[in-house]
Order: sequence, then structure tokens, then C-alpha cells
Amino acid sequence: MTVDIALAGQTIETARRNLTAHLQAAAIETPELDARLMIGAVTRLDLTGLITKAEQRLTAFDAARLKDLARRRIGGEPVARLLGHKEFWGLDFQLSPATLVPRPDTETLVETALDILRADDMTTRALRIADLGTGSGAILLALLHELPHATGIGTDISIAALQTARANATRLGLAARATFAVGNFAAAIAVPCDLIVSNPPYIRTGDIQTLSTEVREHDPHRALDGGDDGLDAYRLIVSQAAGLLAPGGTLILEIGQHQSDDVVRLAHTAGLAPHGPPRADLGGVPRALAFRHLPR
Ligand code: SAM
Ligand code: GLN
Repeated sequence: MTVDIALAGQTIETARRNLTAHLQAAAIETPELDARLMIGAVTRLDLTGLITKAEQRLTAFDAARLKDLARRRIGGEPVARLLGHKEFWGLDFQLSPATLVPRPDTETLVETALDILRADDMTTRALRIADLGTGSGAILLALLHELPHATGIGTDISIAALQTARANATRLGLAARATFAVGNFAAAIAVPCDLIVSNPPYIRTGDIQTLSTEVREHDPHRALDGGDDGLDAYRLIVSQAAGLLAPGGTLILEIGQHQSDDVVRLAHTAGLAPHGPPRADLGGVPRALAFRHLPR
């Protein structure tokens, strides 16, 4: 695809307006924001810099790079993939082709965990946390950032994803409290955990083709594919978690639309009961479910 957009020699402000108009014409959802992020990436200016240097002219090199980014964005690459990083919980996460782009919806899981720990007055304890299918490390590292006495382990089936997660732990100053292990969800974990969190793959295999180009072609399929009924990962995780939760420990799972009843049922067969109601994301979709051992 060629993108016919004049950028060379233009000021940052004019380029920003031209690029926004192009993205808008291509039905990109957030054209202004994407244009600003892309111009910021090529000029290495933050939002303030883009305003104070609005009259500075783009070099031919930056204009060519920007044109390439515009072509890829219009072709369906998410802006986070173009930039190679994404903000989650106010922290900056590096991405790689092996990692899912962390979603704002997943912050619901972090909120749920922190609320439960606060209600139990546990935030200052030396908690042990496990994040199953950690990807970029987003959930685990957001929790460790909020819980200065906690330590945690992130697992993934993808070694490449774990390398990115480990790099993120280092960049965020959390490496001393985070370990990472390859394995089938909790298979590599032997010690009891106070908090187990997971945003596993939960899309039905047959539904993957219906997802947006951004997700279908740019997120790794093994981060999305939950098997025929979308529930394969939950089946395994609830039984593993039932054996690993410390007394009084909590399992918190992200779920997809309409999965709440099925996941509650699976957890029940493993000996786990809901702890509090499902928590909805900003779009009103039930997104996080907490569980504890059924009382004996
Ligand atoms: N936790 C990250 C987040 O919320 O942004 C990534 C979530 S992504 C939906 C699911 C993750 O689970 C992917 O990183 C994928 O590689 C990993 N995964 C898939 N199957 C797995 C398995 N059997 N054992 C461990 N991790 C697995
Ligand atoms: N929330 C992602 C999506 O709908 C799916 C991630 C997952 O399967 N956990 O695109």
C-alpha cells in the first residue's frame, strides 16, 4: 500500500494535521492521538516538546520514517506495535512480537487485586504473587510496583515473551522482586501463593478470525486462543490454583464476554468459590473474577 501524504519540509504542526486527516480518512479510531504518538516517536519529542517545537521543520529522514509508520498504521498495525511499547497502569512496557499488547481492560484485574488486599489489610505483607501467562509482565509488574514488600513469579509458555517481561522488570526497577519461569501456566511453581492472577487466552478458536486486524494479525495467537469453547486455559488454571493457593489466598482471573458463569462453574468443581461479585471494566463488561477455597 502506498500512502500519498506530503510531510517532508513541513512543520511539526502541519505534519500533525495532515497525518491526522489521513488517519481519519482511513477510519482509524483515534487519529489525533495516533498522529501525535507517531510524530513524537520519529522526532523523539514528548507531548510538551511537540507543542513547543510546533514550528520546527521535519527532516527528510523523519518525514520518510513517518510516512512508513503511516503506511503500516493504515494497514492495520496497532500504534503500540509501531512504537514497540505501551503504557499500562501508568508504567511503560516494552513489547515484542511474542507479547500481547496489554489492554486497559486488564487494569480492572489489578484494581480488583489491590482492593481485596486493602480490605484484608494485607498490602504491607511480604506477599507471594504468581501471574500465569505474564506476556509483557504487565499485571505482575503493576502489582509489584504497588506492593513494595511483595515478590512474584511470572510464567509463560513463550520464552521470547519472558525475555521481554524480564527486560521490563529491569527497566521498571522491579527485577529484584520478580522472577520468570517457562511452563504450562502454574506447572513450574512449587511454593504456595497468596495471590494468583491470570489473563489467559480466552477467545474461542473459531472466533479469532472475527477479531479486528489489529488483534488478529498482530497479537500472538497463543495469547488469544482459548480452544474450541474458549475455556481450555481456565480448566487447567483453576485446578492448578486450587492446589497452590496459600490459606486465605485469592485467585483473580480476567474473563471475556459471557464467560462468567462458565468460569464460576469450573472453579467450583476445583473447590473454589467466588469472592465478591465480578468486577466490570470501563465498558461495563464483567472482566475480573476473584476466587477463594470453598469453606470446608
Ligand atoms: N498477562 C499479559 C497481559 O495481560 O497483557 C498477557 C496475557 S495474554 C492474553 C496470555 C498469555 O498467556 C500470553 O503471553 C501467552 O503466551 C501465554 N500462554 C498461553 N498458553 C500458555 C500456557 N499453556 N502456559 C503459560 N502461558 C501461556
Ligand atoms: N482481551 C483480548 C481481546 O479481546 C483477548 C485477550 C485474551 O484472550 N485474554 O482482544
